[in-house]
Amino acid sequence: MRTAVLHAPRKLDLVDRSKPVAGSGEVVVRTAATAVCHTDLSIYVGEHPGVKYPVVMGHESTGVIDSLGEGVSEVKPGQHVIINPIIACGRCDSCLRGAGNLCRVAGLFGREVEGSLSQYVKLPSQYIHVLPPRLPLEQATIIETLATVRHAQHRVGVSTGESVVVLGQGTAGLLHARLAVLTGATVIAVSRTRWKLEMAERMGAHHVVERAVDKAVEEVRRLTGGKGADVVIDAAGGAETLRAAIDMLRPGGRFSAFAVSHETVRGFSTFPLYFGEISIIGSRALTPQDMNPSIQLIASGAVDVSGFITAKYPLTDSAAAFEEYERNPSRILRIVIDSGS
Ligand SMILES: [Zn+2]
Ligand SMILES: [Zn+2]
Repeated sequence: MRTAVLHAPRKLDLVDRSKPVAGSGEVVVRTAATAVCHTDLSIYVGEHPGVKYPVVMGHESTGVIDSLGEGVSEVKPGQHVIINPIIACGRCDSCLRGAGNLCRVAGLFGREVEGSLSQYVKLPSQYIHVLPPRLPLEQATIIETLATVRHAQHRVGVSTGESVVVLGQGTAGLLHARLAVLTGATVIAVSRTRWKLEMAERMGAHHVVERAVDKAVEEVRRLTGGKGADVVIDAAGGAETLRAAIDMLRPGGRFSAFAVSHETVRGFSTFPLYFGEISIIGSRALTPQDMNPSIQLIASGAVDVSGFITAKYPLTDSAAAFEEYERNPSRILRIVIDSGS
């Protein structure tokens, strides 16, 4: 089989390997589609801290069950599946509390564990979720991101009738906007990019603000009748976002720190947290319980992800996919790499 191996930043080669064999409790999946996200781009360019090369990327992955190891009975060869990429130890205190996403030694499939930029992958059956057969496998890759979005909104607690600001309208931002609309919130989408705001309107966003995050505070306050928003979700991830987000909130508001930034936040004091009783709520990845509801949201059409895949490349051309992403990050929602299944 063919596998795309990133030997060092920007050095992605296609390598021939033998097809994996499922051990006890494992399944082998014939990979169909892998969506490439910002995490992959940061691994590709060498900006993701702590990554050990060589690495086989790919964590937003769908495919078809190829073969089963001993003791696996919950899935059958030929079924369409999506992979939960959060590989947890199952033994640490977080895992035992049911928070495998906070596992002390968790690895990401496609970073610490070899991922899906390959024709076949092998992994324990617990990380496999069955998809409805009619759902296109390319579109189904978006379910992984939706599961992380669902987890974050569960953490921050979006309710019917609340005002929710979503900062950034990339794939995750658009999914945040849609999910909050489905919950019955009034959604304000913020982005500098016109075509992404048009997508946000298609997701049902009630208001769009075409501005950089730090220039959008006044408009958010105006749209919320001067009160400020109940919830602000950061799906943009710059270090400057935090201050603006807190200025957008009403007293007692909640901030979801969804997007990750490795930059430090300068000039930020904790006084507004005290004065406005603002909550900052972190959210890491997804839990297995987020997967099936996210599958249903996309399979039912409640979350319509047509238009989210802005480019497609075959596995044999993976390097070109990353080159395009690096050149034009603002024009990409998701690039899908097709493993040829
Ligand atoms: Zn991702
Ligand atoms: Zn653990």
